[in-house]
Amino acid sequence: MNKIAINILIFVFLTAIKITSQVDKKDLSHGDKIIKEMGIISTSSSPFSKLHDVPIHAVKIYDGFWSPRLRKNKDVSIPKLLELLEEHGVVDNFRRLSGRKNVKRRGALFTDSDLFKWMEAAAIVLQSENDAKLKATLDSIIDDVLAAQGEDGYLNTFHQKDVGEKRFTNFYNNHELYCLGHLIQAGIAYYRATGDKKLLNGASKYVDYVISLFGPGKKQCFAGHPEIEMALVELYRTTREKKYLNFADYLLNHVELDKLEEKHSNEDYDIIFSGLPFTSRKEFKSHSVRGMYACCGATDLYMETGDSQLWKTLEILWKDMTQYKMYVTGGVGSRYIHEAFGNKYELPNERAYTETCAAIGNIMLNWRMLNASGEARFAEIMERAFYNGFLSGVSLKGDTYFYRNPLVSFGDNVRQPWYNTTCCPPNIQRTFAKLPGYLYSTSKEGVWINFYQSSELNWHLENGKEIKLTQTTNYPWKNTVDIKVNSESKEFSIFVRIPEWTPKAYIFVNDKLLPEIAAPSTYFEIHREWEKNDHIRLEFEMPIRIVFPNPRIREDLGTAALQRGPVVYCLESSDYTDVSIFDIVLPLNSSDPKVGFNESFNKNLLGGVIMVKKQALIYKSSLEEEPLYSYATFEKPTQTIELTAIPYYAWANRGPSQMQVWIPWIEKH
Ligand SMILES: [Zn+2]
Repeated sequence: MNKIAINILIFVFLTAIKITSQVDKKDLSHGDKIIKEMGIISTSSSPFSKLHDVPIHAVKIYDGFWSPRLRKNKDVSIPKLLELLEEHGVVDNFRRLSGRKNVKRRGALFTDSDLFKWMEAAAIVLQSENDAKLKATLDSIIDDVLAAQGEDGYLNTFHQKDVGEKRFTNFYNNHELYCLGHLIQAGIAYYRATGDKKLLNGASKYVDYVISLFGPGKKQCFAGHPEIEMALVELYRTTREKKYLNFADYLLNHVELDKLEEKHSNEDYDIIFSGLPFTSRKEFKSHSVRGMYACCGATDLYMETGDSQLWKTLEILWKDMTQYKMYVTGGVGSRYIHEAFGNKYELPNERAYTETCAAIGNIMLNWRMLNASGEARFAEIMERAFYNGFLSGVSLKGDTYFYRNPLVSFGDNVRQPWYNTTCCPPNIQRTFAKLPGYLYSTSKEGVWINFYQSSELNWHLENGKEIKLTQTTNYPWKNTVDIKVNSESKEFSIFVRIPEWTPKAYIFVNDKLLPEIAAPSTYFEIHREWEKNDHIRLEFEMPIRIVFPNPRIREDLGTAALQRGPVVYCLESSDYTDVSIFDIVLPLNSSDPKVGFNESFNKNLLGGVIMVKKQALIYKSSLEEEPLYSYATFEKPTQTIELTAIPYYAWANRGPSQMQVWIPWIEKH
């Protein structure tokens, strides 16, 4: 062979290597890029989604209101809950099936989902940061879970090896599809964190098994507890397999109830918010978490299909909840019976059910509706729930939890480390882990700042150009937010959310006040040609607001609540000696009710909070000394007392205590 031929051969060989390695590298980086693009929900290819999530890893949280809570979530809550899941046999239930442990199954029939939710929380933490120890722990749990999976894909510790009823014979009660939904979500979260599909593939195999048995033209099924619908849409977004989207559509709208083997009444289907077509719903009568989750699935489906009937139904239901059935804390669910929504204005305070999972469901639903529409009203409900009805669900130490979040307590509500139905703790944990991903969104116009917390967004605009936003704030204690902008792109918009609670907002760009009015309850669009290190400053007037309830809420008649920024306040007995908080009356001048309040930041109290104080009144002798009914009006309160209020989320962190949110008030003359 001559020299030229050898050179040609070498050239061809090297080129081949080069092309091969380029292809490999390109494929890898392509796959990697797709995973790394995905946020809490991945709507970047959803045709009917206006806003798109940024990935959780693109947002770094700096010191501020949420940072200690997120740290506690990772360092205390997540490891402690796994210990408890182990202690209560939840992981052993899987080891039993694979023969790794010879034990009896323990726990509620749906307790697999508690572990799956814990796994999702851990996986989402791994999307934010590398933690070899946490990953190794999670990998070993995944190994235990997958080892229990049946050949056919089925995986449910209550039904395998003949513990409970025969599989798929009692959709109403047995939560099989609910547990599967949480398995799918854990698989997706782990895939987005690591690029590893093992758990995702396990979940898909189970879904494929379900789809092979049930659906249009096959046997019929329904979700006894909605959850799987949103998981299926996210599985579609992750794999692009249309069958998963179709099955979500089937479960939400096309179950043929007359062909079902088990029989239930329409009232039963109202309670579980499933079975009947989603688009036939006119109000919330259901179990509150089920209602929220079903609506999450429907919003996800809407963002893929654009079915206007879905959106119309969602708007009707959203109005039903926010205008008639939601607590001032963003909590939902008024009734113990069925853990359900009540009638319009049925909002009892002491007996409020307000499960933490329902407040979380409210956050998840409004996040989806915000994605679909870009409208601030959805972010506002999220903010209300985040700072109040969600956050009250966990202690400041991060080790105990409320299942219910009442608005009045006589001292018998204490957070617990564990519940036999322990759905709320891992739900809280995955919500904290997701929090960085809620702060910012993108759209084709630019970038959206949804929530305020010191942080840095390192991402790209939808034109592919890099953007870095640095947000500095002590919100919600302070009323200013500074945002530094650096982007490869010149001209684009930054949308900043103007909260509904502020009487007036001011927006400065490079220290110049913008002349336009930044109306509360909107996203304000700042469109310009941005220069390096341009900065935005937001100032929100943040007075103490007095919230008056609609007089139709019988239980709140004659009362008012205190709110500062997004934080709702309460009276707690820990701040009073020798008097009952239920004897305190708030004197208000109704033409200017905010007059006379003082606020001060106490860094040593309850992790650092602003306390609110005001000169108030109290009855000369306690109302408990008075008769239950009287033919004469009761005497007016005449003694003065200094009223002290703390943020509602922080109550019950100083031992058992009495608490109330709604305070009786009288006109001050
Ligand atoms: Zn719960």
